[in-house]
Amino acid sequence: MAYFQARRDFLKVVTTGASATVLIPGSLGALGNVALKGEDKFIRSICEMCSSRCPMEARVINGKTVLLQGNAFAKEMGTSLCARGVAGASQLYDTQRLVVPLIRAGKRGENKWREASWDEALSLISTKLSALKERYGARSVLFSAKTGEQYDLLRSFASAFGSPNVFSHWSSCPIAIESAFEHTFGEKLHRDFENATYILNFGHNLFEGLDIPLTKAMAHFSANPSKKLVVLDPRFSVIASKANEWHPIKAGSDLAFVLALLHVWIRDGKYDKKFIEQYTIGFDKLVDSVKETTPQWQQSLTGIDAKVVERIAAEIYEAAPRCIIDWGHKATTTKAEYQRTRAILMANILMGNVEKEGGIYFAKTAERINTLAKEMIVPELNDPYPRPRIHEPRMDGAGEGGKHRFVSRSHGVLTAIPEAILSQTPYEIKGWFLTRHNPLITVAHPQKMKEAMDQLEFIVVNDIYLSDTAMMADVVLPESTYLERDEGISKSAFKTPSYAMRNRIVEPMHQNRSLIEIIRDLAERMGFGSHYAWKNIPELRAYQAKGNAELLQTLLMRGVASFDVPPLLALQSSSVESFCERYPKSSGWRDSQGLFSHFLNHLKTPSGKIEMYCDEVERAFSGYGVPRAVDMDVTQGFAYVLTSGKSAVHTNGHTQNVPYLHMLLSDNPIWMNPLTAKAHGLKQGDTFYLQNDISKEKATVFITEGIRPDTLFAYMGFGRDTPQLKRTHGKGTNASKLLSLESATLCGAMITNVGVNIIKA
Ligand code: SF4
Repeated sequence: MAYFQARRDFLKVVTTGASATVLIPGSLGALGNVALKGEDKFIRSICEMCSSRCPMEARVINGKTVLLQGNAFAKEMGTSLCARGVAGASQLYDTQRLVVPLIRAGKRGENKWREASWDEALSLISTKLSALKERYGARSVLFSAKTGEQYDLLRSFASAFGSPNVFSHWSSCPIAIESAFEHTFGEKLHRDFENATYILNFGHNLFEGLDIPLTKAMAHFSANPSKKLVVLDPRFSVIASKANEWHPIKAGSDLAFVLALLHVWIRDGKYDKKFIEQYTIGFDKLVDSVKETTPQWQQSLTGIDAKVVERIAAEIYEAAPRCIIDWGHKATTTKAEYQRTRAILMANILMGNVEKEGGIYFAKTAERINTLAKEMIVPELNDPYPRPRIHEPRMDGAGEGGKHRFVSRSHGVLTAIPEAILSQTPYEIKGWFLTRHNPLITVAHPQKMKEAMDQLEFIVVNDIYLSDTAMMADVVLPESTYLERDEGISKSAFKTPSYAMRNRIVEPMHQNRSLIEIIRDLAERMGFGSHYAWKNIPELRAYQAKGNAELLQTLLMRGVASFDVPPLLALQSSSVESFCERYPKSSGWRDSQGLFSHFLNHLKTPSGKIEMYCDEVERAFSGYGVPRAVDMDVTQGFAYVLTSGKSAVHTNGHTQNVPYLHMLLSDNPIWMNPLTAKAHGLKQGDTFYLQNDISKEKATVFITEGIRPDTLFAYMGFGRDTPQLKRTHGKGTNASKLLSLESATLCGAMITNVGVNIIKA
């Protein structure tokens, strides 16, 4: 296996274990060996300053982290990290971090605490959670975390405890994308930015919502004069500044633009007919639904000239299949988010770009590669976080029936929480265990959420800082930062599979512990320690790797394990050819044209094919089985629409108080067009109010031509109420306070485009 070979080369330069000094070309070792003295170590791990999980390398001298950079063993990373990634050490050594467990000593939210030992804190949690279970049933306790290893762990703990009510951040972020993909392809696909020649982008701002490998691919793409990037966004974002064309589309109207593209391609017969016939169902329904969605029709909805739609449609068809109509990530969502994303997927399908170079493709997981190769090429892993299904109904009805029937039971609808707690419907909710989750900043209507939290009998928050949400807790656990903890193996799969592992860089600074240690201890105290096949992290890793010492050694040394498997695209003949040459047994899968076409006829959809029309969806939500024009009003009768998004130096609600990052961006003045500012008599930096039916929030103005006159924009994560975040306390506007608890139709996504009026202060 290729990674063993690579490991042999690697071991030539390693002297002792994971902490040995290694000079990787272009690494910190090459840069800084001269000036800094002491015991010098390089350790490879995974960044956690956001959830993109970039492989990283730390240089540690005399036990202190001195520099962080990308892990060059991950080819797509090189030595790059973003500003947040580099600032990990600033968080590690921050004097405002939580350092010991805290127990509430005053009224809830009063900010009165007493310090506790871990034994006292965990014993209290164990007693209180067991008492809630005894009195109201296990379902009375909610569990929430951001997706990632922490979420997998907490979800497993919740299932051992017996509660079905687990929440991730999905419903406040990518849930519309996940649902649209599930109903169309049965799973989510990736984008081949490297080989595309044309990208149509709807606000997927990879230069601020960062993911280093993807951002680098986009940077190369946008810098290549032979390629074309078209961005549609109400705001002149960083990616818009790198595009060949920027069209300031009206907020919330992406759907209309895409439906018009679909109309033009179908009207002119300019789509991949063979692909549609061979791999899809429901094309006739799509033809019907876009009959009237002409370029002229979309003009009044989007503000984009009909001729532009005709031209862009022709250009994309010309570039197909090396074209991508990009679905996001994006931070602004509307009620029509599901239909918008499904329409975008239809556009890709009509261009026949699936499993082709420069198009979109399925993740080639270890299991998939091994099945296709008909031999074990890539080691497979055990799941260390068992999760027996809980048959109790969820409090939000996710995955069960009603309006959230298509929402994953594993992720839930965050905006449903306040009402369920306040009304104790459909049943009693009395407790909440949150880890690194800050709904009072990142979820709509935090005022209502706070009111609901106030009603709970017991709240546990595990976090690095005393966040706004932690302020409402009964027990606050001081989590170790990612630089202080070991974790299990995480999987990643693009055209080839790979693994990565978070390795401890330095010993915990204070009394901080990792969630793995916390949960394992609690499971033991609460009598379900046997739920896990491991007792500590070394055992967890060994179990997960199925005892594969070579794999573990590679992950300890390099932080990543990749495999010398040819990149695979099932409908790209050259790619299939190379795969079959390397693994001759896989030739049995090839069709008469030499392709792995069976792959696209055995999808995880009800029909096994790509579903342009989804019958199950249509039966539950009439008119939603196929994309059509719905729900595009985002101002709800107010004069302006307030949008929000990510900044390149902060991660949602997590990093605003990190010293270095706070220095880079400490406030979020609201973007406003000069015409709008003039109409309201506002000058640069003036204070004003954003007002709607939900709230009236103070803000300052940033006047810029880079936004439509009918649109306003705020960076997320500011406007913190907690006095414990001393740097960021009271700075900026928390746009979530203006959002309603209504969620997007069918997918349950939080709606973040919201109507507001401007009131002069
Ligand atoms: S994008 Fe930046 S913060 Fe996020 S994981 Fe990568 S390096 Fe870290």
